[in-house]
Amino acid sequence: MNKKVPGVLLCLVFLNFISWAAVLHFSPNYLKVVFFDVGQGDAIFIETPFKHQILIDGGPDRERIIEKLSEEMPFWDRTIDLIVLTHLEEDHVTGLLQVLKEYEVGNVLWNGLGENEEWESLLEEEGAELLWGSRLSASDVFFEILSPSSGETENTNDGSLVLKMDYKNNSFLFTGDISSKKENEVAVDIDVLKVAHHGSKYSTSSEFLKKISPRVAIIQVGKNSYGHPTEEVLTRLDNFGIKTLRNDIAGDVKIVSDGKNLKIITKKKDI
Ligand SMILES: [Zn+2]
Repeated sequence: MNKKVPGVLLCLVFLNFISWAAVLHFSPNYLKVVFFDVGQGDAIFIETPFKHQILIDGGPDRERIIEKLSEEMPFWDRTIDLIVLTHLEEDHVTGLLQVLKEYEVGNVLWNGLGENEEWESLLEEEGAELLWGSRLSASDVFFEILSPSSGETENTNDGSLVLKMDYKNNSFLFTGDISSKKENEVAVDIDVLKVAHHGSKYSTSSEFLKKISPRVAIIQVGKNSYGHPTEEVLTRLDNFGIKTLRNDIAGDVKIVSDGKNLKIITKKKDI
């Protein structure tokens, strides 16, 4: 797979990560992935075993993402190595605007589709590292951009940036808001699925679930008028015996990986 991300796009390589890895000799050996409860929207915080910090989307609320980050990051740490915007829609980008204002962001990755004046001017001010590429790495955590391909020209749900993340034997798939049509193009065997489009019935088909065989699925969903997550999707996940967690019920969902085993941590005990 060697697809290029289209547009003006800001892809990147973690040049600064390489030096960090050399400096930090201790390795806790855990990858931490937190699916934040930010209401109806996506926001996922990743901390690699070498403490590189990555944020995929920022949710629909400026204050809430800052609160969530302060729970996961020490107060003196004002830097984030990479932010990823899957696509320019309010429930994904809004929180990132505040993150760009309050944190020093080293790298930015997005699909380059659509226009948002505030986003673009904040990116310019930030001066983050921008490179082209389809694979990224942060020490021993690897990312592959599975979509969009260069044919994508419009800011639609199917234009969402889709990322596969690997840490030793564990893999995660971050799907933005793609529909089943697009899911068929990015179907790879993984352990943890970020369910696309907040549990819309037009995503997460049985065919897709069969191909990717996740052990765990996370639905990033909050109060909404769309009927998300839909019964159809919940039933499909259940039919495959996939452990499913919803942010509207579970609150923040933290998954810790040692490269082989996954540990799921939620604050609410009734999961
Ligand atoms: Zn969305």
